[in-house]
Amino acid sequence: MKDDCIFCKINKKEIPSYTIYEDDDFRVFLDINPITNGHVLLVPKKHIENMFELDDKMIAKIYKTAKKVYDILKEKLNIEGYTLIQNNGHGQDVKHYHLHLIPRYEHDDVKYLSNEKQLVSVEDVFEQIKN
Ligand code: AMP
Ligand code: ZN
Repeated sequence: MKDDCIFCKINKKEIPSYTIYEDDDFRVFLDINPITNGHVLLVPKKHIENMFELDDKMIAKIYKTAKKVYDILKEKLNIEGYTLIQNNGHGQDVKHYHLHLIPRYEHDDVKYLSNEKQLVSVEDVFEQIKN
């Protein structure tokens, strides 16, 4: 637990949340700024900053739990797909690991991440990365 962490506070119920699923390891609650109806965050009860701090056991549990939550969302909201997003470091607003579970619907009009900045060519990037 970290005193100044908003998701630790939610886990301790010092801040309210719309929790839809909970077990010993995770709390899953509605994102207050949803991308689609039923957008939830899967949050470990332990304070873990980002994916690089997850051990293999937790990594497996996260996917298992995400699948469980899919079944709930499918049954209750009749969702038609599932998009997962997870920010680490730059782009991550809350520094307590959370996986965005975003329900998809046939006519939802969701746009993927975009970047207006001029990029170098894919070939140049490959030259930098390849062995
Ligand atoms: P990220 O940019 O990946 O760190 O996402 C942080 C997410 O947390 C955003 O989508 C916020 O809308 C969401 N969020 C922040 N505070 C709360 C809160 N108190 N309850 C629910 N969701 C929150
Ligand atoms: Zn925390």
